[in-house]
Amino acid sequence: MTPLVDVYVGLGSNLEDPIAQVRLALEALGTLPLTERVAASRLYVSRPLGPQDQPDFINAVAHLRTRLSPLALLDQLQALEQRHGRVRRRHWGPRTLDLDLLLYGDECLELPRLRVPHPEMTARSFVLLPLAELSPQLQLPDGRPVAALASALATSDEIEVLPE
Ligand code: ATP
Ligand code: CA
Ligand code: CA
Repeated sequence: MTPLVDVYVGLGSNLEDPIAQVRLALEALGTLPLTERVAASRLYVSRPLGPQDQPDFINAVAHLRTRLSPLALLDQLQALEQRHGRVRRRHWGPRTLDLDLLLYGDECLELPRLRVPHPEMTARSFVLLPLAELSPQLQLPDGRPVAALASALATSDEIEVLPE
């Protein structure tokens, strides 16, 4: 049997009740085949990347353990995006649900469909803050500590925890 691998998935939504989209997706991630959900971060509000004429994003990160291969997990994440009615309009434009595979154990993958660690994650406070909240001791495959990367980047005008 394939071993269980710790993986982290970044969630984002800025259309059609994004808070509900992210909450539902966090639940759905726990129901994927051969996969268990270990923990989920709080929800964060962030300004959009790219075009600014669109609503703020709701972001979160989920910690899963899976026996799915990286590409099989990506297939599941993309199917879940589709079930949430994702329509691809423009790059970095608004979307009902975006699921990015951030980390798959300590693996480094450069496949046509899948790059892991997610190549932009170290530049994004809406990824690093929830990730550091979930796993303060976590290190990237190259040994860099996530918490240090997060505090080097954190800028309070870009992101805040969603008030309860
Ligand atoms: P970004 O990747 O900069 O956050 P995005 O999330 O808007 O941008 P998408 O349109 O959702 O980009 O994805 C484009 C393609 O990226 C997908 O079809 C997928 O095959 C590929 N991809 C590569 N690496 C990953 C990854 N780690 N997680 C999710 N998709 C990935
Ligand atoms: Ca993304
Ligand atoms: Ca994506």
